[in-house]
Amino acid sequence: MKGIIFDIRRFATHDGPGIRTTVFFKGCPLSCRWCHNPESIDPLPFKFQKKVMVDEEWFEQEEWVGRAYGVDEVMNILIRDKVFYEESGGGVTFSGGEPLLQPEFLLESLETCQREGLHTAVDTSGHIHRKAFDPILPFTSLFLFDYKHHDPAKHLQSTGFSNEIIRDNLQYLLKSGKPVRIRIPVIPAFNHTENDMAEMMGFLKSLDGTIEQVDLLPYHSLGTNKYKRFAMPNPMDGVPSLKKNDLLPYLQVFQKGGFKVTIGG
Ligand code: SF4
Repeated sequence: MKGIIFDIRRFATHDGPGIRTTVFFKGCPLSCRWCHNPESIDPLPFKFQKKVMVDEEWFEQEEWVGRAYGVDEVMNILIRDKVFYEESGGGVTFSGGEPLLQPEFLLESLETCQREGLHTAVDTSGHIHRKAFDPILPFTSLFLFDYKHHDPAKHLQSTGFSNEIIRDNLQYLLKSGKPVRIRIPVIPAFNHTENDMAEMMGFLKSLDGTIEQVDLLPYHSLGTNKYKRFAMPNPMDGVPSLKKNDLLPYLQVFQKGGFKVTIGG
């Protein structure tokens, strides 16, 4: 079984509890204007021209983004840091892109992690057929579930799709009893108002089931270099990063709603 992966990052501290290794799957059904992993959206590997310096001269060379990995190859990397996961209460996060777009590879990876005693998190956009969740439920310790905007029209405008499927899937996961953390990217000119946050908080509160935590993620412009590197148009060009302090009023909105909430995850 092979999966298309574009990055594996060890010692990640913002993709779930403790110290983790994050595996980034290629392919995403959404195309968010602010995506800081724009190379993740295309499900297939692609080539780009990279500038390298040799003997003080710049040259261009072709490099691939993404390649096929076997489950064994991924596991060999994941297992290296088992001691750090155990010490920190961490584990492995499958992210992307949308990991559920490669359901068989994800399932086999999760099953293998469980056999190795590793905590597993699946970081999902939620925009996926509901049936895709069922096979992975027994092997997933935690879901990191993105909720971006409560207004279906604004969601459609900035991600390419409305949010009805996402809302239904979130309710479904909560009813399954699996731990779920909500991840809200706070994006200028999209959801960066107290009213937007209050609407999202009200919706989350109305759901049947317990949300473990809400993580507010301030927009950052670190993806800017990637858009340049991959010669992609950047819809957020020139928009500065938000600071943690910018999100303090939103922290209070969720705290008043009775949620455990963090800024930055
Ligand atoms: S869901 Fe995540 S990976 Fe997919 S386009 Fe949006 S920000 Fe990028």
